[in-house]
Amino acid sequence: MNSAPAPAPAPSHARPNVPRAPRRFERGGRPISHGPRPGGASRRIQRILRRPGIGGPRAERVADYYPELPAENVVRIVPLGGVEEVGRNMVAVDVNGDIIVMDAGFHFKEEEDAPGADYSLPNTSYLEKNRERVRAVIITHGHLDHIGGIPFLMARFGNPPIYTRNLTSIMIQRRQEEYPDVPKPEIVIVEPGQSVTISHTKVKFFPVTHSIPDSMGVSLMTPYGNVVLSGDLKLDHEDGIPSEHEVKTWGELAKDKNLFFIADSTNAERDGFSIPEKRVQQTLDEIIKTVSGRLIIGTFASQFERMMHIIESAEKYGKKIVTEGRSIKNNIEIAERAGLLKIDKSTIIPAQDISNYPPDKLVILCTGAQGEEFAALMRIATKQHKYIQFNERDTVVLSSSVIPGNEVSVQKLKDNLYRNKVTIIHYRSSDVHSTGHGNTGELVWINKQVNAKFFMPGYGYYSMTASHAKAVEQSGRSRESIIMADNGSVIDIIDGETLNVHKQKVPSTPLIVDGFNIGNRQEVVMRDRQSLAKDGMFVIIASVNIKTGKLRKSPDIISRGFIYLRESQNLLNEARILIKKTIEDTTRNMNPIDLDYVKNNLTDVMAGFLFARTNKAPMVIPVLIGM
Ligand SMILES: [Zn+2]
Repeated sequence: MNSAPAPAPAPSHARPNVPRAPRRFERGGRPISHGPRPGGASRRIQRILRRPGIGGPRAERVADYYPELPAENVVRIVPLGGVEEVGRNMVAVDVNGDIIVMDAGFHFKEEEDAPGADYSLPNTSYLEKNRERVRAVIITHGHLDHIGGIPFLMARFGNPPIYTRNLTSIMIQRRQEEYPDVPKPEIVIVEPGQSVTISHTKVKFFPVTHSIPDSMGVSLMTPYGNVVLSGDLKLDHEDGIPSEHEVKTWGELAKDKNLFFIADSTNAERDGFSIPEKRVQQTLDEIIKTVSGRLIIGTFASQFERMMHIIESAEKYGKKIVTEGRSIKNNIEIAERAGLLKIDKSTIIPAQDISNYPPDKLVILCTGAQGEEFAALMRIATKQHKYIQFNERDTVVLSSSVIPGNEVSVQKLKDNLYRNKVTIIHYRSSDVHSTGHGNTGELVWINKQVNAKFFMPGYGYYSMTASHAKAVEQSGRSRESIIMADNGSVIDIIDGETLNVHKQKVPSTPLIVDGFNIGNRQEVVMRDRQSLAKDGMFVIIASVNIKTGKLRKSPDIISRGFIYLRESQNLLNEARILIKKTIEDTTRNMNPIDLDYVKNNLTDVMAGFLFARTNKAPMVIPVLIGM
């Protein structure tokens, strides 16, 4: 009785084994002026060569799965994003006939899957299918991996109200200003300790420690116990002893009967306790106080609390601050708007005024500690900044860790900094950075406090969620009570006792934001980009006598990213002969001559030829000019 119900009818975008339409009509949404979509053999070869990318080849797709409505005795949890990556966070809880969504994040682009795309979003098809039951979106805090999807996603499931805290609401509204065409969200501001009733469901909020103020966790009440979501978090502690306010917060939560707990796994691959942010702030305060000469601090704008403390410390020691980087300037403005930062107007000075102040009295706060090419720190280090140049008396603090994947650019940045002969302080040499996410020591402690019947490690790549699971299991939690979910998993708890993870998943292929377009339709564009990135392109330009079908002259060939033409004269000569033969053979006895048909045929033949000769499958684009 708990088996997953039959799949719903296939939506229009799935095309299971539909016979191929005549190729000449297969234009794949590409503007006609670009010529016919390179199809046929070229595309077939690419399918063989390439592992399935976004969505995989269309022919292999099966109908999307949508489960039946949960029965009255079922609490359903559907993670839509964030359990196979860091970012794109979104979890839906389906209970009492209501769907309540927690977080709506995005994930910065992954070059592998989507070259050139801006970012990806959770797939909200499940919510769209049930949009009349989506009652609210609760946002745990203001980081982009929790709020980034809001402008793109809310309208897809009926623009339900957003419940969140004050700072987060300002960040959401601020971001919304960049999307004037999107309706303004309805925001309900809540505070920890408060409980609200959303449709049939009572919801409580509790404060958590993270790198941005106003972070919170959520506890949804169900007849079988609470569903608790941690949000991003770490513990405030002293040598592994949680502080008084943490003991109080989690102790409160421990009084409830908790059914299901979802918690942050981002740092679950690290043991023990993370460095408390307090210690980082003390270290930075000491540096700001004692360093003579200019101080340049590179950090993440997302380290909101730290940014505020640096500014307060600088003011305390009578130093002026120059801010460099749009995200830092934005966040300072938001902090002031939220009433979290109160500083004298004269404390922050523009970069062009820097020479009016003694170096000892200057702190430059900038983005770019990950070595981003165009960020302030790199521009200063490579002497491309208009107003700021490094000198030997400067001290640079890199108040961040290296995000995996950024090693090369951070190394470049460090080399450039050392060339400037500045003094460098980084997180390996001093406590100038701490993460916003708890290590396993913290996670295990929290897990024990919440003491939920079931636990699902959330927020993180599989290695992180798996490490989280292992850590809590080693601390005494039964393996059966731990659920390892994927994006799109449907987890039902029946009568508060029995777990049923559906065999099938709801659609979870991320939506891609690419310029102004969103959605799966981008698959076509992405495949083209992947193909171009991998094997380049091969353009054939030929003028064809529209009466006789003969070529006016030898065809021109342009190629990019495929082979070096000058060293491939033989191949090119053979290609030209084959092009001429193919066009003239195809047009023989054709009256009138159908250039589209000729183009498609030529694409197939040339793609096959090039693959046979080079083992590469460039995108073949014929341009035939009828004269
Ligand atoms: Zn966060």
